[in-house]
Amino acid sequence: MQTIEIKPVEYEHPQDGASCTARAWARTPAPLTAEQRSSLKARIKQLLKEKQAVLVSHYYVDADLQDLAEETGGCVSDSLEMARFGRDHSAKTLIVAGVRFMGETAKILSPEKRILMPDLDATCSLDLGCPADEFTAFCDAHPDRTVVVYANTSAAVKARADWMVTSSIGLDIVAHLHAQGKKILWAPDKHLGSYIQKKTGADMLLWQGSCLVHDEFKGVELELLKAQYPEAKILVHPESPANVVALADVVGSTTQIIDAAVNLPADTFIVATDNGILHKMRAAAPGKRFIEAPTAGNSATCKSCAHCPWMAMNGLQNLVDLLENMDNSSANEIHVDPAIGQKAVTSITRMLDFAAAKKARVQASADLAQEGKLFDGIGPA
Ligand code: SF4
Repeated sequence: MQTIEIKPVEYEHPQDGASCTARAWARTPAPLTAEQRSSLKARIKQLLKEKQAVLVSHYYVDADLQDLAEETGGCVSDSLEMARFGRDHSAKTLIVAGVRFMGETAKILSPEKRILMPDLDATCSLDLGCPADEFTAFCDAHPDRTVVVYANTSAAVKARADWMVTSSIGLDIVAHLHAQGKKILWAPDKHLGSYIQKKTGADMLLWQGSCLVHDEFKGVELELLKAQYPEAKILVHPESPANVVALADVVGSTTQIIDAAVNLPADTFIVATDNGILHKMRAAAPGKRFIEAPTAGNSATCKSCAHCPWMAMNGLQNLVDLLENMDNSSANEIHVDPAIGQKAVTSITRMLDFAAAKKARVQASADLAQEGKLFDGIGPA
């Protein structure tokens, strides 16, 4: 497997105010009382109705924003389903509670819709670590490769790609391209790229980006935790380092590991992904126990801070502010250069079409199996 050396991105760079994690944490909404939360949630429900807007939330955002999305006819999901849901929904205004690339993806897929986010500075270390100009030069240097990029990238990077993928479908798409004899240029997550390369055997050239949350999970500490809970199943998102993935019972996207928590015959799970997911896991699998995978060694004061500072910038109060001001202000609106959007939509649509075809195949084989059962034991008259 080939890799390319890319200079690390300094997330805490003092001049990079908007993207600095310290600044993101400083802008994280303050904790609210139960009364405040209840009052803000009621106001948001009323405003969403009045403004005819729909809320689409990621599994990593504040639990109240996840609940609100579901309670108001929106959606809480992974980035693949968020993109599909937003595109197919009839609402003219989408409120995306997540990070910026999710809002941009929604805008690219639905340029006629208004896309708003509670805080436009909510970004992602993978997006920051893959600047479009450097990435374009990288692609230009390898014209023989099919360019596959993860969803966690800017619109300009997606515009340069042949395919965009999410963690729930990336493995299938690379396997499909590998079967066609294609060589892959992959960006930006090195851990996910490496995992897919190992599983598919594809020829992949990897950009060296990482998620600052998943990169912190520690294999040695995870082994120690597993020794304390030998009966626990380990669920890991593939943005995690290889020695963490190696310990997993299930490796998958957020939706896939929630499904595993529901379906596996176990009562205890150790979860290596952003801890925002635990809200949905507990709701989907009540009575089961979920333990956060460790993110630091024994000497550290914080053993698990597995939460994305940019996802944490989404809150009830800034959502209310957005909804109250949206008629007179475009401060929270996502814009994508139409020329870039027109190019980027091709790579995203390819993935959505591939996912829809896969879903249809799975459904057809389930129907066939069901038919087989119906006719079990029925022979010629
Ligand atoms: S959790 Fe990681 S991949 Fe997800 S938005 Fe945050 S930094 Fe990006």
